[in-house]
Amino acid sequence: MANVWSANVSFSNGELHLSGISATALAKEFGTPTFFLDEEDFRTRATAWGSALKSSFGANAGNVYYAGKAFLCVEVARWVAQCGIGLDVCTGGELAVAKAAKFPVERIEFHGNNKSVAEINEAVRLGVGMIVADSLFEIDRIASAAKAQGKKQRILLRLTPGIEAHTHESIATAHEDVKFGFSIASGSAWNAVLAVRKHPEIELRGFHSHIGSQILSMDAFGTAADRLIAFLARYRDEFKTELPELDLGGGYGISYLESDEPLLPEIVLPSLHKVVQEACIRHNFGMPKISIEPGRAIVGPTMFTLYEIGTTKKVVLESGATRSYLSVDGGMSDNIRTSLYGAEYTAVIANRKPTASTTSSRVVGKHCETGDIVISDIALSADCVPGDLLAIPATGAYGRSMASNYNHVPRPPVVAIANAKARVIVRRETEADLLGLDV
Ligand SMILES: *Cc1c(COP(=O)(O)O)cnc(C)c1O
Repeated sequence: MANVWSANVSFSNGELHLSGISATALAKEFGTPTFFLDEEDFRTRATAWGSALKSSFGANAGNVYYAGKAFLCVEVARWVAQCGIGLDVCTGGELAVAKAAKFPVERIEFHGNNKSVAEINEAVRLGVGMIVADSLFEIDRIASAAKAQGKKQRILLRLTPGIEAHTHESIATAHEDVKFGFSIASGSAWNAVLAVRKHPEIELRGFHSHIGSQILSMDAFGTAADRLIAFLARYRDEFKTELPELDLGGGYGISYLESDEPLLPEIVLPSLHKVVQEACIRHNFGMPKISIEPGRAIVGPTMFTLYEIGTTKKVVLESGATRSYLSVDGGMSDNIRTSLYGAEYTAVIANRKPTASTTSSRVVGKHCETGDIVISDIALSADCVPGDLLAIPATGAYGRSMASNYNHVPRPPVVAIANAKARVIVRRETEADLLGLDV
């Protein structure tokens, strides 16, 4: 059974505590809903991925780029910089956060499948260490920007190795029929190589693939590495020179439920090294520098969402069984993952010890959508009442970062806790914020 809570969460007398502060005290000080972020746990995980890459790959270790889209704010970008790893951004907005945090530019990697001319100009101007090109248009835009600014820009080409990673369709990214990357099988990847070689302003460093998210087995990474190294070998055979880098993306799965065994860096990276080395031997290719891009695996487990239950309702199902609906003070505006792709979560009553036996329950939000469901089916104590606090673990990735203002609900704050001290790092939106855009 895997632990779904961040490192400094404990339970005493049935009440959840983070770094010794009770859920009741947290709710009283910061309100609900709120994302509580375990800062020490975040730093430990970011550092662990960095050191495991170094110890597993030695001289062939490239960079760990934290995938900022999982969750990014200025303070978190500072922590990432302090932990010695890089940052993957994929829009001008994420790049602006990195800039505000004074993130070391040489450790920034710029992703995305539709980077505008303005975004590319800005990235080249700032001097980001790497741009990952995803279309022929972008190759031209990067070349023009570099030429205009008298620079040479390092890039990787994002390739689609044609892999079905076993995860939800909207988060699998490397089979053929997707918007990302240049397909190896169709020949478009090779055309992109030829296009890049026409531009002296571009330094092609190697290739990239990201095969999907919340992956819980290593097999797909091995297949991806094999196809990319075969492609590197083809490049060497054609042009008599070896490209030095390979970026194998992110996607390492975490525990949302106790039954999900997470891919931990100290286990996963030695096994990634093994599959990359085997592929290199098969294709008679010297091992390139390997980079990776974990997002969820760093931030996901470090946050939980604290909600307050506002209403409850008993519904009789067709089968005659009953279901208890527990409505919380947030919902699909702070966690879209359940309605977007059927993500599963667990939850606990956080403010007290349950006193009743469990009953089939559904945790729903306050939005005007039937699909506004946070947890579709969970056994929770039948004695939940309005005013109880409900904590949902592992909401750090793609929760706050995908939050919306649907129904004009203000987005929740993020409160970081370290050494028993809590501080707001992203404040709660107010109604004034919401009205502030109306002209
Ligand atoms: C989303 C994404 C990641 C991070 O994925 P996780 O599942 O959060 O690890 C890494 N690289 C690219 C290119 C991505 O799009």
